[in-house]
Amino acid sequence: MGVLHPLALNNRGQVERIEERCRSSYTCLVCEEVMIARRGEVRAWHFAHKNVTNCVGGEGELHKIAWRTIALGIKSAIAGDRDYPVTFGCPGGHPTEFSIPNHSTVKTNKQVLPPLRGDVSVLDTDGKLVLAVEIVVTHDLDPKALAIYRRSNTLVLKYAPKWATVGELRNGLRGEVVVDRWRCHECLQKAERERIAVENKAKREVEERETARIESERIAENKRIEDEKLIQGPSWKDVIVAGVVVAAVVGENLLTEKPKPKRKSKPKPKKARKSSVGNKKGYAPRKRS
Ligand SMILES: [Zn+2]
Ligand SMILES: [Zn+2]
Repeated sequence: MGVLHPLALNNRGQVERIEERCRSSYTCLVCEEVMIARRGEVRAWHFAHKNVTNCVGGEGELHKIAWRTIALGIKSAIAGDRDYPVTFGCPGGHPTEFSIPNHSTVKTNKQVLPPLRGDVSVLDTDGKLVLAVEIVVTHDLDPKALAIYRRSNTLVLKYAPKWATVGELRNGLRGEVVVDRWRCHECLQKAERERIAVENKAKREVEERETARIESERIAENKRIEDEKLIQGPSWKDVIVAGVVVAAVVGENLLTEKPKPKRKSKPKPKKARKSSVGNKKGYAPRKRS
């Protein structure tokens, strides 16, 4: 006999639960045939089709009841200027709420992203898809549909309804996010912070490498100059400069002044460097060339 319908559409176009007032006339959310409220004492309360029908409350009917209830819930919330809370855990694990923009339009079973026929599609005033809801009853979302949704970068939620709880969809949806590329505000901020941190780290590393390179070049250059001096001995210019310094300074000052002439001699070997790059043996090859 199938499942006993807990929901029906009342004459004001709202989804009603069997536990509620039940003073309206009803139609089936699935087949739109007339239904009557059965609130007896033997069986659980339910809506029953007035006439014989093949709408027996199977999986297909649960699927349709779920998406119609969501769509009607969103529409009546928009019309009544109320909230229809849509909550889910974002892929980053943050409990997230999506608020449906004012004046959105809701489409059901329409090719909003052709050829994909979405269960519930919420479009903003510019006609942009901002929320898609897929009802999964027997099987998970089709990989092709998933690929289309992923390309669109829309917030896509899936919802697995049950007959006992499908009525909750009138007032809000607690779904499960499908497209893992979608990020909540908090996730986006976190990603931005991480991106900046990575960028800064890379910048620092480049700077450090450059500093190290300059430093090692400086050390190598100093060493080369020292080596050249050892081979060559002091130049006649060095001797003259040293002599001048000796003449100018007395006694103990001589030792502290000693590095000074060395520094003065720096420009001269520097010129020689270009022709003897990579040659640690000093001036010998230069003389040959
Ligand atoms: Zn029906
Ligand atoms: Zn998040």
